[in-house]
Amino acid sequence: MTIRIDDLPIRDELRGKSPYGAPQLDVPVRLNTNENPYPLPEPLVERIAERVREAARALNRYPDRDAVELRTELARYLTRTTGHEVGTRQVWAANGSNEVLQQLLQTFGGPGRTAMGFEPSYSMHGLISRGTGTGWIPGPRRDDFGLDVEAAARAITEHRPDVVFITSPNNPTGTAVDADTVLALHDAAQAAKPSLVVVDEAYVEFSHRPSLLPLIEGRPHLVVSRTMSKAFGAAGLRLGYLAAHPAVVDAVQLVRLPYHLSAVTQATALAALEHTDTLLGYVAQLKAERDRLVDGLRAAGYEVTDSDANFVQFGRFEDAHAVWRAILDHGVLVRDNGVPGWLRVTAGTPEENDAFLDAVRALKKEQS
Ligand code: PMP
Repeated sequence: MTIRIDDLPIRDELRGKSPYGAPQLDVPVRLNTNENPYPLPEPLVERIAERVREAARALNRYPDRDAVELRTELARYLTRTTGHEVGTRQVWAANGSNEVLQQLLQTFGGPGRTAMGFEPSYSMHGLISRGTGTGWIPGPRRDDFGLDVEAAARAITEHRPDVVFITSPNNPTGTAVDADTVLALHDAAQAAKPSLVVVDEAYVEFSHRPSLLPLIEGRPHLVVSRTMSKAFGAAGLRLGYLAAHPAVVDAVQLVRLPYHLSAVTQATALAALEHTDTLLGYVAQLKAERDRLVDGLRAAGYEVTDSDANFVQFGRFEDAHAVWRAILDHGVLVRDNGVPGWLRVTAGTPEENDAFLDAVRALKKEQS
């Protein structure tokens, strides 16, 4: 007898739903999940091995439950790169920023509460909301994928969500917002509820604009979420973090599982942070490659959304999925996020980007 998910006594709101699922296909050029294409440099691999060996000797014990050394180093990184003084007590870390967001929703959302994000945006905001029993309210975005501050503020005032997500740079569009936009939406959210405003800065190291992190000063309801998955080239590590008022850090500890961050994860992240400068060097290269993709796509006759991230949204297509398939037939995997008319390509190595640009130029020729 075949038993499907819906035959199980699962929660009603999960019935008929699909899990997060970027295809993991075996293709020569994979530019679909916004990963960093550069493997960690060998000296860092050595340092990770050393740190993990040391940690292994104490694996009979639980790890540092509060990850103090790691949070201190993350705070130093934030202070150094934003020019805004961040202390250890303002930083919290978890297994990927997805877990950070989940802990925030478990703490500030939950049954009977709602969260809002401005779509199209990172689909996991809605999925994690659902997983935590938080109602999801899609908010508006302009046709050019920028945020319409007035329309967004009106939606906040009307729906009074408990959590508001502002993703900057936004995934999948690549668009970023300025401090005034965040302040306007933060003020609208405080007047409406007050609610927690989460600025998801997963891609901020690739942006032309400065981080919005200094805005947390004096705003205990404003949280900035970050990750080592993109700029640090460590998606496999699973390390995300947030910066906020220390009270927010205390609050998420009400829901975090004890010892959620393994000693191996903490040791690996600490090793990576020792090599920050080298890793940020790759970020500079990727930013240049991102700009080359934008120029190359425009020169080939495609529409491109300005990008502040390590990926580029391009279109427009009558049938985006058919184009996704055609690019795949050229050996290049990009992403169809379900935004009608648009696809997304992640900046890879120069060779990978050449392969992608060759493919999309060839498609234009085939069409004409
Ligand atoms: N936020 C955004 C906007 C993202 O695009 C992603 C990853 N695709 C994440 C958060 C989560 O990343 P991670 O859990 O690897 O930190």
